[in-house]
Amino acid sequence: MEDYLKKRQEFEREITTAKYNGIAFTPLEEEANKLYRQILISERATKDDSFYKGYTLKHREQFEKESRIFKAIQKLPKGAVLHIHTDCCMDIDWFMEELAYHENTYFNQETSTFKYFQNAEKAEPGFKNLREEREKASDKSQFDAQIRKCLFVQEEDRMVSKENIWATFEKKIMSIAGVTYFREHFPRYLKKYIENFIKDGVIHIEARAFLGFTFNEDGSNLTVKEEMEIYSKVLNEVKAEHPYFTYQLVIQGLKMWDVNQIEQYMRDALIAKKHHPELICAFDLVQEEDAFKTMLEMAPALIKMKEMQAEIGVELPFVFHGGESLHTLKNTNLFDVLLLGTKRIGHGINLSQHSYLLEKIKNDEICLEICPVSNQILKYIDDIRLHPIKTFLNYGVKVSINPDDPGFFGYNGVSMDFFFVSFGTQLDYKDLKLCAYNSIQYSFLSADQKKAAWEELEKRFQVWCKWFIESNPSS
Ligand SMILES: [Zn+2]
Repeated sequence: MEDYLKKRQEFEREITTAKYNGIAFTPLEEEANKLYRQILISERATKDDSFYKGYTLKHREQFEKESRIFKAIQKLPKGAVLHIHTDCCMDIDWFMEELAYHENTYFNQETSTFKYFQNAEKAEPGFKNLREEREKASDKSQFDAQIRKCLFVQEEDRMVSKENIWATFEKKIMSIAGVTYFREHFPRYLKKYIENFIKDGVIHIEARAFLGFTFNEDGSNLTVKEEMEIYSKVLNEVKAEHPYFTYQLVIQGLKMWDVNQIEQYMRDALIAKKHHPELICAFDLVQEEDAFKTMLEMAPALIKMKEMQAEIGVELPFVFHGGESLHTLKNTNLFDVLLLGTKRIGHGINLSQHSYLLEKIKNDEICLEICPVSNQILKYIDDIRLHPIKTFLNYGVKVSINPDDPGFFGYNGVSMDFFFVSFGTQLDYKDLKLCAYNSIQYSFLSADQKKAAWEELEKRFQVWCKWFIESNPSS
């Protein structure tokens, strides 16, 4: 038996060394990890199937109040967020306070659409000034509640097919962009969502964003130069308060565009990168994977990236969405995004069914940007216990944890996603730290920036472990 136990220990060491390759754990962290696991086991024992299935966010009020794991995760250093969409990060409380009843905000009751107009004469048919409508309402808090409900995906929105949940979701995105992207609102919107991530322990963001989406008083779009100046100004303000914080953009286009449009947009993105190399890091195409063009259909444009890069004299790597599909018999996007040279993969959850590709992305160190809350809300994984993140991590695949579209799911930051995967798939402190490490390691930061970011995070992890152990004395 002694021999067996020795072999067993060696076997365990071999596996953990392979998995945590690149990061070490201090004795304090070992102790915190043991405690974290104990608390996780005891809290999970109080939950039944209904907690994990369908819409776990419906239990939010309860776990935010009672769960020691949730409270611990809120304070946990998160590293970088590599997968968010800038148009989907609205802080709902902030919107209600600052923009919903702004003098220029109009609302179309029939389509639940918010829109900026210079004045009542300029407002399109069907749009009424929201502030004036609220004034007329007898029950103001009920009025506020109705407006708030329009802003993010509700549990009842999910009682439909996957196609319909996407339609609801995309409609909501468009319904607020007509206000938040107004040139005077957008800098405040941007700053608010960045500050929410910083408060949540994030030190670097790579945010997907459209080029030329912000608009003037008359509805015309800002030039790319003007738009980039807004980003730079906001980032300088943020950096003045948080000098360690960094932020870059992944330019996103739409899969519904025709191939010529995509090609032109790639060119625009390359030119923007040439003028703002510090701001732009990569390129992607978004929208529901099963509903729009496949990567193969867009390939005639995408394969031109290399020659365009040579012509314009700047590089813009791909970081494509892929493997976020329920139609894996006909969806070959994972195959194509790899062949097109993607540096990371947005989602990639279908890789759990494709072991050959999984082996390849493991060997090529292509990091997966996992978005657990999004996967459940948009109906790709009904039961969060079945999310493949733990399979990926234990296999040695590089994984980071991200919120995708937190504004439309009704929360800020990325703690909710860390909580979903930790609680659902039993990731412990060490697993979460590994994901944070990957988020820095597979970001587009320079080698020096990565080193500095990781040093900052290592310090924060030690502080967190000390706090966590001290604040959970009886366990
Ligand atoms: Zn996404």
